Amino acid sequence: MRFEDLNAETVQQLGTEEKWLAAQNLVQSGQVHFRYRTPDRLEAAVQDNDHWYSCAVTLADDSLECACTCPAGEGGWCTCGLAVLAAWLENPNSFLDRTLLREQLKQYSKSELIKIILELADKVMETRDLLKEESPDLDTLLESVDQIFASVGAGGTLDAEELEEKLRQAQDKADRLAQMGRLSEARATYFYLLDNLYGLEEEVGQTDLFSDELRQELFEEYCQLIHEDRHVDRALVQQEIEQLETRAAFLKDQPTFAELKKQFLGQTA
Ligand SMILES: [Zn+2]
Repeated sequence: MRFEDLNAETVQQLGTEEKWLAAQNLVQSGQVHFRYRTPDRLEAAVQDNDHWYSCAVTLADDSLECACTCPAGEGGWCTCGLAVLAAWLENPNSFLDRTLLREQLKQYSKSELIKIILELADKVMETRDLLKEESPDLDTLLESVDQIFASVGAGGTLDAEELEEKLRQAQDKADRLAQMGRLSEARATYFYLLDNLYGLEEEVGQTDLFSDELRQELFEEYCQLIHEDRHVDRALVQQEIEQLETRAAFLKDQPTFAELKKQFLGQTA
């Protein structure tokens, strides 16, 4: 199923008639804000008088699921969830296509992106808060990586796409550390991501949980950071290499690892 295939009849059956009417009212009175979408997710902020609720409708195994921050959102379909779908049926183009936008942004040059962000900071207050975020410190960063993996380990849902997105965010922070010249912290983060990623795949017995692209990128960056760092802590990297060597899937996946090992250990000798 795709969101494009939905029609009013299907959606109506998700809740009571009363809720469906209330949902349509929310749309008509312009209370479904900040709409955006990915291929399997519609999200919006739904306003109910003074309250704002963050509401997401996801496609999972051909069925629709609703997750909402409103009081009624815990058990099944609330009015906000239906309102998100009603808004979609009424005007799909009003949902910002995040996947498309991401691809588009990748085409921009850095100076173009800086110009756009500065303009946003001028016009949109929230942008300033986002930009104010302090530079990441290693402990907090590794802790956030722990949390990402713990959320899966504890019998949580295994949404690979969502997980990968979170890992990418950690990766971005590591790149920022590298940009600031904090190469060893960036490297430690990349090692941690790699080790945990392969560890998780081992644990759940699924060697293709994450995309090849992510795996290769993490390892390439990790190698790059070792080579760039003139003050690299050799004992630490050696420990990391030994740890990665215990991951069978990693060795199979990363044939150039042997090369790194040889190069690195060779330099010590
Ligand atoms: Zn709700």
